[in-house]
Amino acid sequence: MKAARIIQPKQPLEVQQIETPKPKGSQVLVKVQSSGVCHSDIHLWEGGYEGLGGQFLKTTDRGVKYPLTPGHEIAGVIESMGEDVQGFEKDERILVFPWIGEGLCPACRSGEENLCDKPRSIGIYQDGGYAEYVLVPDSRHLVKLDDKMDIDASATLSCSALTAYGAVKNAGLNPNDNAVVVGAGGLGLMAIQLAKAVTGARIIAMDIDDNKLKVAKGNGADFVVNSTTQDAVKTVLEITGGLGADAVLDFVNASKTVETDMQLLRRRAKVVLVGLFGGELRLNLVSMPTRAYNLIGSYTGTLTDLTELVSLAQRSIIKPVISDKFKLDQATEALSKLKAGQIMGRGVINP
Ligand SMILES: [Zn+2]
Ligand SMILES: [Zn+2]
Repeated sequence: MKAARIIQPKQPLEVQQIETPKPKGSQVLVKVQSSGVCHSDIHLWEGGYEGLGGQFLKTTDRGVKYPLTPGHEIAGVIESMGEDVQGFEKDERILVFPWIGEGLCPACRSGEENLCDKPRSIGIYQDGGYAEYVLVPDSRHLVKLDDKMDIDASATLSCSALTAYGAVKNAGLNPNDNAVVVGAGGLGLMAIQLAKAVTGARIIAMDIDDNKLKVAKGNGADFVVNSTTQDAVKTVLEITGGLGADAVLDFVNASKTVETDMQLLRRRAKVVLVGLFGGELRLNLVSMPTRAYNLIGSYTGTLTDLTELVSLAQRSIIKPVISDKFKLDQATEALSKLKAGQIMGRGVINP
């Protein structure tokens, strides 16, 4: 089979001819029809990301091994199955839950496999969907798709939409809440759709791009704030009657955005950090207890969350936006475009 692989960080991906895996036991071989291109694929490609004091955190220190086939947003059909798999048929349409754990740690045992101590995520710690086929270790990590679901839109549910959904859940929003969504890119837009559909909270979308804010308004944002042309803190305080936001969901998560987040909070507010931009934060420590703030990190979501999302998408309650389609040999171009901010919704690779 063909696979677009990162041979070593920072080098163009290579399309290689490698052996097609043969599923055994509970394993399933999936024929990939669509594989989403995610920001975290850029970190894999660059070999790491920025940590404290500009220090570079290497992916290999976290257990990533190269060469690696990236791609963790995978939708397709079942090609073949190991002898123990039940309840699935060849050619059945499925979505892969990629956030696989080792199954033994407390997180895995309480259904939060996405937060496993020894993660084995597909497309990060084992070969993923930038390929004609992908081996899924266990059929319980597959979610069935109905015939109407668009395959490209489905693929993006397993990371982009799942991460947005996980953040919305972590924000614990109520219908009376004012929630600020920072960053109106793909994830932010999905979070706005989900927060409107599931929680009923009032949504204030914040970005530095008027075009993105216009799209955010069309996707359900009640208010929009351009943080370069407007005073973000003052505007949010005005909208919330001087109280501040009950929650901030930050899909950028850079030093500058989180410093702003911390100034527009109501007492008891939750600050949910999701984006992987990175950097560091100076905190007023006394106001953490006196104003009872909650600082929460949110990473992807659970298998249960994914089955809920598929249900929401099948009823058209959320609509993922696919803007760019690539072939396997365009994987490097896809990552470069994403890095340059030239992909408006989500890019996918169709092997
Ligand atoms: Zn685990
Ligand atoms: Zn992702």
